[in-house]
Amino acid sequence: MPSITKLAGRIAKSPTIAMNDKAKQLAAEGHSVIGLAGGEPDFDTPAHIVEAGMKAIRDGETRYAAPSKGIGPLLEAIAAKMERDNNVSVDPMSDIIVTPGGKLALFLALKAMLDPGDEVLIPAPYWVSYPSIVTMVGGVPVTVATSSDDGYRLRLEDLRGFVTAKTKAIIINSPCNPTGHMLSSDEIEGIATLATEADLYVISDEIYEKLNFDGRPAVSLASLPDISDRVVVINGMSKAYAMTGWRLGWLAGPTALIGAAGKFNSQTATSAATFTQHAAVAALNGPQECVEMMRQSYQERRDFMVNSFNNIENMSCPDIEGAFYAFPKVDNTSKSSEEVASLILDKAVVVGVPGSAFGISKDAHIRFSFAEDLNLLTEAVERIRGIADQLA
Ligand code: PMP
Ligand code: GLU
Repeated sequence: MPSITKLAGRIAKSPTIAMNDKAKQLAAEGHSVIGLAGGEPDFDTPAHIVEAGMKAIRDGETRYAAPSKGIGPLLEAIAAKMERDNNVSVDPMSDIIVTPGGKLALFLALKAMLDPGDEVLIPAPYWVSYPSIVTMVGGVPVTVATSSDDGYRLRLEDLRGFVTAKTKAIIINSPCNPTGHMLSSDEIEGIATLATEADLYVISDEIYEKLNFDGRPAVSLASLPDISDRVVVINGMSKAYAMTGWRLGWLAGPTALIGAAGKFNSQTATSAATFTQHAAVAALNGPQECVEMMRQSYQERRDFMVNSFNNIENMSCPDIEGAFYAFPKVDNTSKSSEEVASLILDKAVVVGVPGSAFGISKDAHIRFSFAEDLNLLTEAVERIRGIADQLA
């Protein structure tokens, strides 16, 4: 039998997807499982967006999209959205590629900027796929640890210590999956300084930008004039518009890099689904009340989760500024995050993702998505409270 690549042996299945699949399998087997592993809105896609997608199918928008980098109206809608929401000007025809999901956008961006052995700084806790995608395209992920003790602050002096002659990029995610941390203006300035002095690309993953709490909007790194020519924005429809299954994301950035990513897109995905792109036009150009309604609901659930975990003995959960994940930790335990997650799975039948998946080895954190019905979240928290003495 011919062998598979050595690289395949080094890449694990996405742990969030693995845990999500496990929860679904337990449910199918009849267990009364509460799955809070996957990061996916519980809302249906808003009706006017669904209708636009259905209409596009009925109108025969079922062929390859042309141009492959995205249909004109969607490229225009994304450029208008970036101008309106983010104060970022991009040329719709040369600076944007539409992809089947933000995850592929990230892959294409990294494929276009890394030569083998180039290093990418990744602040931890990080979204599970960053190091794997960097590795898959031949780069080297370099983890920069931050701590819950000081609100996961990213310091310029810490970042500088990780820069080498091979460092090519830094990945930023604000609001952050899994911590919800939003970059402060100080942190943003630090990243901009580092990018300029070390000649780096900044990949700014803004997929949770609309899901920010307490009235503090997320700032796009691309809106900083000094570094806008080295920032690549990753965004998509999945989270803000409850469109995970439509698979629609994009990258926007410097023309040369986007041109390279566009070639890779045409040689792999060909294009994002055509009718999905029409639905995305309706989402971006249409009424935005649906986004605000979902945001408010996540904010209520955020309040509930933070409050509940802080009231469970031996657990603590710092405030969450955005996205829809709680990342509490078990205090004073010698157990690892994997041990805690499997105890919670076995005894409370609640599925979360251990902190180790997000690059945290020191403390026993677990990520729970709160993009779920409040009654279900209440039941999950009560079940965890019931076994809390076994977690320490
Ligand atoms: N970035 C982050 C931080 C995410 O959590 C996700 C969720 N999967 C993505 C990017 C990509 O999402 P999608 O591929 O559904 O657009
Ligand atoms: N982004 C979500 C999560 O972190 C969806 C699953 C995935 O793509 O990893 O759970």
